[in-house]
Amino acid sequence: MTETTHSDAKTPETRTFQAEVAKLLDIVVHSLYSHREIFLRELISNASDACDKLRYAALTEPKLREGDADFAIRLAIDPAARTLTISDNGIGMSHDELIANLGTIAKSGTAEFIKAVGAKDNKKDVNLIGQFGVGFYSSFMVADKVDVFSRKAGEDKGWVWSSSGQGSFTVAEAPGAARGAKIVLHMKEDAKEFLEEQRLRHIVKTYSDHIAIPVILDSVPGEKKDGDEEKGPETLNSASALWMRSKSEITADQYKEFYHHVGHAFDEPWHTLHFRAEGAIEYTALLFIPTQKPFDLFHPERKSHVKLYVNRVFISDQIDTLMPRYLRFVRGVVDSSDLPLNISREMLQENPTLRKIQSGITKRLLKDLKERAENAGEYKKFWDAFGAVFKEGLYEDFERKDDLLELARFKSTASEDLISLKDYIGRMKPGQDAIYFITGENTAALKGSPQLEGFLAKGIEVLLLTDPIDEFWVGTVGAYDKKQFKSVAEAGPDLSAIGGDDADKAKNETAAEAIKGVIEKLKQSLGENVADVRASSRLTGSPVCLVADTGGVSLHLARMLKQHGDGMSSMPIRRVLEVNPGHPLITGIKKLNGAEFDDAAFLLLDQARIVEGETVPDPAAFARRLSAVMEKGLV
Ligand code: ADP
Repeated sequence: MTETTHSDAKTPETRTFQAEVAKLLDIVVHSLYSHREIFLRELISNASDACDKLRYAALTEPKLREGDADFAIRLAIDPAARTLTISDNGIGMSHDELIANLGTIAKSGTAEFIKAVGAKDNKKDVNLIGQFGVGFYSSFMVADKVDVFSRKAGEDKGWVWSSSGQGSFTVAEAPGAARGAKIVLHMKEDAKEFLEEQRLRHIVKTYSDHIAIPVILDSVPGEKKDGDEEKGPETLNSASALWMRSKSEITADQYKEFYHHVGHAFDEPWHTLHFRAEGAIEYTALLFIPTQKPFDLFHPERKSHVKLYVNRVFISDQIDTLMPRYLRFVRGVVDSSDLPLNISREMLQENPTLRKIQSGITKRLLKDLKERAENAGEYKKFWDAFGAVFKEGLYEDFERKDDLLELARFKSTASEDLISLKDYIGRMKPGQDAIYFITGENTAALKGSPQLEGFLAKGIEVLLLTDPIDEFWVGTVGAYDKKQFKSVAEAGPDLSAIGGDDADKAKNETAAEAIKGVIEKLKQSLGENVADVRASSRLTGSPVCLVADTGGVSLHLARMLKQHGDGMSSMPIRRVLEVNPGHPLITGIKKLNGAEFDDAAFLLLDQARIVEGETVPDPAAFARRLSAVMEKGLV
C-alpha cells in the first residue's frame, strides 16, 4: 500500500467512507436491529483473527510478540462514561490499514450486493445481510461513536480512528497506544443493556465460547461494594479450540456458533462434519456446508475459505489446495500436526501432505453427502444452493466422476422433482442405451422445444440442463453406468430404434423419401444460412427445428459464448434445419415455386430460430414475408 500523507498527524485527518460503506452502515443499522447483540460476536471474532495473524507472523519474527506474548481479548465496562471497550493484543493495524480496512470494503462483488439489497425494499432481510457478513460495522448498531486505537505489531506509532458512522471518519496519532486494537464503543442511550456484566457474560458464552483465546471481563471500577470480595478479571469462555474437543462434549449450538465465527455466517449449517484422521497423516477437520448460498459463490476470485491450522496455529484461509474448487462453499477448519510450520504459505500450497489431506476431506464429505441424499427433501436444499458449483467437479475431479454423478440431481421431462441418474436409468426404455439431455436457458423454454417432441411422444425421459456449467461437463463426462450422455440434438436417428419396430422405421424412411424434392429446394433457397436440411424423425407437432451439426458446439453454448463476448463466438456454428416429413406445411410447400417458395423457406427457418430463443436476423424481411402469407390466407 502506498504511504498516504499524514505528515501533519497532530490534527486529525478527516476522510469520507467509500460509498458502499455508507450504504452498508445504513442497511446494517436497519436490518439487524433485533439481533443487535451480534456486534460483540463480530468484534471478538475480529480480535481473535488478529491474534491468530500475529501468532503466525511471529513464527518467523518472534520479536513481534515479545513483551506481550499471551494473547487475550479483554472487555471493559465503564458505566459512568457509558463505554464498552474490547481490546486485543493481536497484529493491530497501521495508519493505512485503519483507513483501508475500516473505510472501505474490499470484498469482491460488494457493489453488486449493495445494489441488490438497496434496490428491493429488503433492508430488513437479515438473511441477505447475513450472507454478506457485517463485521466491524455492526458496532454502529449499538454505539453512536466508535474509537479504534491501534498499533501494528513491529511499529512504534499508534493511531486512533474515530467515527459516528455518519459518512466520515477521522484518523489521528495516538501516542502510547498498545500493540493490537482497542475498540471503544460509546453506547447509544437505548443500548445500555450491553454495559451489564451479566448480559455480556451471557452473550460471550452463547456466541463466542469456542474462541480459542481467553475473553476476559475486567472488573468494573467502583462496582465493589463493602464486604464484596475483590473479583478480579474473569475469563468468560472455555478458550480451547473447539475442533480439538471431543464430539460428545460439543452441543449443536456450539457447533453453530463456531460456524458463524469461521464462516462469517448467519445461517444454520446444513451439514456439520467433525472428524479426526489417524494413520499415515493426522489431522482434525471441522467442516460445515452452509444452508445459504454465499453472495459471491460464482465470483471468479472466490476461493475456499477453509482455515488451515498447524498445531493450533492459524496459517491461512487462502490455501487453494486445501479444498477442491467445486467444494468452495464449505467452511470450517483443518488442523494438522503433520505439516511444517516454518515454510511459507506458497510452499505449503504445494505440499504433498496437503494434497493427501484434501483427498481425505473430499472423500469424507462425499460420503456424508451420499447419506444426506437419502432424504430427498433435505438434499434438494443443498442441491438448489450449491448444485451448480458442485457440477464443476464433473470435469475438474475426473477421478471421482462416478461419485459426483451419483450425487448430482437433475430436472427432467418425466418428473416435477429432481431426479438422480439412477432414477433415470431405472426408467429407460427397451432399446435405449444413452442418457438424453437438452441444454438451454430455462426449464419452461426447454420443455417447449420441438427437439423434444419425438422423445415425449415415445415417453423417453430427457434431462433438462439449465445451468451454464452443464454445457461444459456433459461434453467431457462420457458415460455413467456405461450409458453415454447424448444431446437430443444429436439423437434424432436413435429415435426410430427405441421402442419402435421395423414398421415404424420403414414408415419414417418412406416419409423422408417422399419429401426429398422439398429438401433439395429448401437447401437451394436457404443457401449459406444453414449447413444442411434434412428429414427429421424427432418432430411430431412442429414443422421444423434447428439443431447443431453432430460434433459441433451446441446452439445454447454458442449463444452463451456470444453473450460473454468470448473469442469462440466468431466460430461459425453449423446449424442444421430439420423438417418434419409428416407435417402439412412441409408436404404443402411442395407446390410453391420461385419467390413464393423462398418466402416460405425463410419463414420456416425464422420460426425455428424463434423457438430456439434466438432473434430473427432480418426482422423487416420476416414481417414482409409473414404479411404476404397472411394476406394470401385472408384475401
Ligand atoms: P472482515 O472481518 O469480514 O474482514 P470487518 O469489517 O469486520 O470485516 O473488518 C475489516 C478488516 O479490518 C479485517 O479484515 C481486519 O483486517 C481488520 N480488523 C478488524 N478488526 C481488527 C482487529 N481487532 N485487529 C486487527 N485488524 C482488525
